[in-house]
Amino acid sequence: MASVTQAEIHRRELKENRQERLFRAETCRYCGAMVDLSGFEMTPQMYCPYCQTIIVLRRDKAHSDEKNYGICDQCGFYSRPKIFTKFYFYFLVHVFGYRCQQIYMCNPCMRSAAWTMLLFNFLFIIGLPSAIYQVIRSHLGGSTFNKDFVGLDKANSKAKSKKYQKAFAIYATIEKRLGHCAGVRYNHALALSHAGQNDEAIAMLNESLKDCSNYLPSATLLQSFLASGNQAEQAAELAMKFAKY
Ligand SMILES: [Zn+2]
Ligand SMILES: [Zn+2]
Repeated sequence: MASVTQAEIHRRELKENRQERLFRAETCRYCGAMVDLSGFEMTPQMYCPYCQTIIVLRRDKAHSDEKNYGICDQCGFYSRPKIFTKFYFYFLVHVFGYRCQQIYMCNPCMRSAAWTMLLFNFLFIIGLPSAIYQVIRSHLGGSTFNKDFVGLDKANSKAKSKKYQKAFAIYATIEKRLGHCAGVRYNHALALSHAGQNDEAIAMLNESLKDCSNYLPSATLLQSFLASGNQAEQAAELAMKFAKY
């Protein structure tokens, strides 16, 4: 309801300035929010800032399981994150207790966290069942069995372990397979920037925005490159365009 109100306020503002024809909005098919797309070019995908999903506008071309893909809180890569519960139980002669924390993270991030949790809880037994459960969970799911995003977890892992050439090759394969894939191109740009190839990263972010003109993570990263590269005017222009999110 808040999204509809916000979009309506913007439509009225444009009407007052005799620019109502510039108003454009789409309803997110996953959360039902009204996404204000005024000022953004028509692209094959749109981003819903409310549920943070990249959506292929043509339903018959939607990527498999796209509603569950987004940015991992731990590594910042576009992936299929899920809630991970870190649970540590300790017992030290006179003192005992536990620590519990929930984080939204992708499968490769879950794997290292789950093995650390298993090793720690191994000493104090009580936390062991939960640690074993998380290790099993971290090895299931992700993009491994997804027909569209298969290879994405592997590419992200390669990028994180600085095996950039291998990561670039896998990203290129996925991009070729999907055609329009703003999230995959965002990861590709992130890996290029980690490899120190900033010009290529900027070009890749522009490609990502050609697939999904309102993809906020790509715009935010592009803005930081423009601002640090003495292109303050373009950075401010981009920030203004995305201010409504
Ligand atoms: Zn949504
Ligand atoms: Zn991650």
